[in-house]
This record gives sequence, C-alpha cells and structure tokens, in this order.
Amino acid sequence: MDNKLLQLSNLIFPDLTEQDTVESLEQLFPERCLKEGSKVTRMAPSPTGSMHIGNLYGALADERIAHTQSDDGVFLLRIEDTDEKREVEGAVEKIIKYLGAFGIEFDEGASQDGDIGSYGPYRQRQRAKYYHIVARKLLLEGRAYPCFCSEEELKQAHQAQEEAKENFGYYGKWAKHRDMDVDKAIAKIQNGESFVLRFKSMGDPSKKVDFKDQIKGKLSFPENDQDFVLLKSDGIPTYHFAHVVDDHFMRTTDVVRGEEWLSTLPWHVELWRACGFKMPRFCHTAQVMKLDEQTGTKRKMSKRKDPECTLGFYFEKGYPAKSVIEYLMTLLNSGFEQWRSANKDASYKDFPFKASNMGNSGAMFDLAKFNDVSKNIIAFMTADEVYSGVCEWAEENDKEFYRMLTADESYAKAFLSIGRGGKKPRKDFACWSEVKSFVSYYYDNLFTIEEAFPETVSLQDRKAILADYASIYDENDDNNAWFEKIKELCDKYGYTSDMKAYKENPDAFKGSITDVSNVIRVAVTGRTNSPDLCSLMKVLGKDKVIERINSAAAL
Ligand code: GLU
Repeated sequence: MDNKLLQLSNLIFPDLTEQDTVESLEQLFPERCLKEGSKVTRMAPSPTGSMHIGNLYGALADERIAHTQSDDGVFLLRIEDTDEKREVEGAVEKIIKYLGAFGIEFDEGASQDGDIGSYGPYRQRQRAKYYHIVARKLLLEGRAYPCFCSEEELKQAHQAQEEAKENFGYYGKWAKHRDMDVDKAIAKIQNGESFVLRFKSMGDPSKKVDFKDQIKGKLSFPENDQDFVLLKSDGIPTYHFAHVVDDHFMRTTDVVRGEEWLSTLPWHVELWRACGFKMPRFCHTAQVMKLDEQTGTKRKMSKRKDPECTLGFYFEKGYPAKSVIEYLMTLLNSGFEQWRSANKDASYKDFPFKASNMGNSGAMFDLAKFNDVSKNIIAFMTADEVYSGVCEWAEENDKEFYRMLTADESYAKAFLSIGRGGKKPRKDFACWSEVKSFVSYYYDNLFTIEEAFPETVSLQDRKAILADYASIYDENDDNNAWFEKIKELCDKYGYTSDMKAYKENPDAFKGSITDVSNVIRVAVTGRTNSPDLCSLMKVLGKDKVIERINSAAAL
C-alpha cells in the first residue's frame, strides 16, 4: 500500500480504524435469506417538506413490488436526512403517519419508536461511518480524490464552459485537482483547507452503456466522465454516493425512484461498478402529471398550483384512503382497471402487480376521474362504514357536525342507508367533507329552502297541494301507497302523472308529476334533487315532515 495515500486517507478519515473495512460491512449486513424471487424495496424520502401525491404513488409501487406474490418480501423506510438545514421538524413522524393512514406499512426501517430491523441505522445522518468506509476504499484504489476548488473557482469554470460551449461540470481538463500530487493534497489538508471528496471517473462518453430499466426497458447512454462529489466538505455524502452504499448494504433488490434520477444514472452505474457492488434492479417511475386547465397542456403536478398535489388535501377533504389507493393503482398499472371490473370485491392487494406494467410516460392525474372513483367506492360502502368514515373526519375537521352525527347514531345511519345496497347505489359524495351539505336537511338547525319551488306550479296551487298533502300524508304508507297519493294530487290539480303524454303534449297540462313531487321535495328538503323522497320522509319522521310542509304552505 502506498504510504502517502494511506497518510492522506488517515487525514481525511480520522474516524476510521483499520478494522473498518468494506469486508466488515459485508459481514455485518449479509445477503438476506429470502425465498427465491422475493424483493426488497425501500422508500427513501428526505424529511424536508410536505408529502405529495408522487411520494404516495412511489411508496405504493414499492410496497406492491415487495409484497405481491411473496410473503417474505421487505419494504423498508430509509430517511435521507443529509440536508440538515432543510429538514422540517416532525417530518419523519408525518411520513409514517400519512402512509399508515393510506394503509401502507413498512416491514423494516425508521419507525415512530426508533429503528426496526438489522440493516440499520435507517437514517442517513447516523450512517456517516459506513459512507466513510466505502469512500476510503475508493480513495485507496485511486477512484476518489480530494478537491480543494472554491465555489468561486467552480463558478469561473462554469462560465468558461459556457463560453466555450462545452459540457458543464467537473471532468477531464476541467477537473483541476484530479491529478494533484498526494503530498500537495496532504499539505493542504494539514493546512486546514476545505475540500470535498470527488469520484474519479474512468468513463469515456464516446462509449455507450446499455442499461435495462424495469419500467423504461432498454436504455443506452454515453458513459459518465463527471468527477462528481461523493462527500461534501463536512463529510456528509451526496445522494449519489449515499444511495449506492445504502442500497447495497440494506440489500435492496429493486430501487424504485422517480425518473428525475435518469439524468444522473450514468454516474450511478459507474459508481456502483467502482465500488464493486452488484447493482440492484432499477424502476424509474413516471412523474405524476395533470392537464393544465388554462393551457390545456400536460404538465407536472405542482404543490404550488395544484392543491390535490399535497397529501394533506386528501385528509382535509376527507377522501377515504381506499379511494386514493384505488385511483393510484389505476395510474400505476395499466391492467388494473380491467382486472377490477372482473374482480369487483377483491382487495387491490390481490392484483398481480408488475413493475414492467407501470406506465412509461407521465401518469395523468385527473381530479374529476378520481372523484368518480371515490364516489363509486363510497357508494358501495355500507351505511356503517360511511358513518364511521364521516364521523372520523368530522371529529377532526367539523366538531359541530360530529356532535350532530353522534347525538343520534341510528338516525344518521338511517339516512346514510338511503339509496345504498343493490347494483346501482347512489353516488352522492366523493369525500366526507361533502356529506354535511348533502344531508343538512336532516337537521333542523341546518335546514333551509335552498332552491326555488318549481316555476310551473303557481303559488296558489303550491299552497293547496301542500295543505292537501299534509292532511293525507301517512308515514306508514309503503312506496306504492305513497306514490299513489302524489298521483292523486296531480290529477286533482291538473298536472299529469303520465310522463309520456306530458312529453308529447306538454301544453295540455299545467305540469307533470315531477313538478308536484318537487313542490313537496323542496318543502321537505329545501332542494329539487334528493334521494328517494318517500324513504327520506320516513327517516325524518312525521312530525318534522308535517311541520316543514305547513311552514312551506305558509310562505
Ligand atoms: N431522497 C431521494 C428523493 O427524495 C430518494 C430517491 C430514491 O428513492 O432513491 O428523491
């Protein structure tokens, strides 16, 4: 071993001893004993801000890859907290809580109660030693070197590259300290000069690297020649270096990450090889996109412009987790919708999820379509499920409504049952925050006449119809008897219950049965559109119905 190089490495890594070798790490974190074909995936968020839909999209892909068709696959959580300045307090807890609320659980990694698993620590700031061990090996093998260039020098090089129309970065003739004499480097460090540790690339961009991505398929790109930074001046690794060390020693089999990392993939390929580590499979996921309402063009979702981009939106509005997951599954895997129509009641976990079926180009998030999916999911829930979903949401977000719902549970469940069951249940709301305005007429303190009475019915007729109806309404009437009474009123006042005849010759009548029933509907519910009127009147109870009809008759 070159003594000078050893001296340099001792100066750079005073925290390491001779026993701190890559081999010792290989023993500490051995290959996992998993069944053939089982996969290890990880979510590796930086705790720097609010979670967005893209994080959940990626986490769901990771989770499904690890757990589909395998009972010992591992999905782990690694916290990439190397950027201490940008770290947001409580972000880790929030990540775990939010994903848990969507039913995404980790098998291993960072948790609310510390780390779980034997491949940790799972927070990068606690892994400094491991990065240093691998970096020292690269240094001693001539694949890393200290660089003392100041910000100013790098800026000047950037300008010069711009003028000369050359590629940006630290490479070839621009890599000033690449071949610095070891003695000189030692002297500079002893002199207290600040430095970063750079990778020494051996790549030749005139040659191509072939790469197989699980989603994108076969890729081919020029070899890397950038001497990118491995360790920053404070000894903290860059993402590029940290992910190689972590994914190797956590024995990740499938790295699922956003396609924004494709541009630096050539760096990573060369680095994985230089470290002597076998590369895992890579799945570069498409970004979540949307159609811009103003321009009509496809664009990346933005936290700033699109409220639906942040996960908080789904909690605030009260979308069931099941709806969000169901919709993301349709975005993630092309065959999901077809599978769902053949497997209506199955859990999404039974779907044979495959990375290779993930969309290659941007996944289009369409809020209207998502709302439809969610309406459908809620429509097929039982009244009990809807009641507990809406109560859970209201307890956090609308205390007054929560008190109203829980004051009489069976009453709330009775009105939530209307239109439920059967093949074509009503699709009234997409999220829990929409429930209150939909059911407000069940509560006197929320009830108002929101919509106008039908214009086709004169004030005189309206009053007469309502007064008549109050005297014949019987809450024990079944649907048929109930309807017959409305029909009678129609005939009596010159409206018709024969919709065909009405359509053919509307001028022959004052109006139709729709107008008459809407007079009653508006009186009782305050609106012209509602679930089955006969059923909802039964739930409201005779007293309330009569009281509302009488007060509408007096208007
Ligand atoms: N911390 C990186 C990010 O949030 C992780 C990328 C990866 O999954 O490798 O983008």
